[in-house]
Amino acid sequence: MYLGDYIVIEKQTGQYRFDCCCVSTGTTFSAEVDPDKRDRFDDTTFPDQNPAACRFLRPLGEGRIGCTIHTDSPAQCKYYRCRIMDILSTEGKEAGYITGTLALHSSDSSLRDVYNRIITTVSGAGAEAEEYIRIELIRAGYQVR
Ligand code: SF4
Repeated sequence: MYLGDYIVIEKQTGQYRFDCCCVSTGTTFSAEVDPDKRDRFDDTTFPDQNPAACRFLRPLGEGRIGCTIHTDSPAQCKYYRCRIMDILSTEGKEAGYITGTLALHSSDSSLRDVYNRIITTVSGAGAEAEEYIRIELIRAGYQVR
């Protein structure tokens, strides 16, 4: 909602094609609006009403918003994933979730203790680290999806 100053469209190069820049890193990238999101992208009501938002963001319905250049979005956006794992208790009740930055969100103190132990033994990031965490959580008795 507040990345309009950071993900900047520099030039439109086609009907749905843009040359862009990630201002924070100075990285340029070229993006095409995903074919299945073009109808949504054509409606500019949302970005017009929310000038601080990224120009590629659009409402998805039911109060949710989403990216219309999912395929071509820059690395920073791809890395930032709201939710990479849901953690359930052995009874199948939601115990917490982990975001793309490997932060645990949970009010379950037992899970927090387990996670703090696991995270201190994680080296690196990415798919390998995520798989390691997943296996360790399962070993500790949680269900992970
Ligand atoms: S994920 Fe998409 S909508 Fe969100 S900031 Fe990145 S490019 Fe913009």
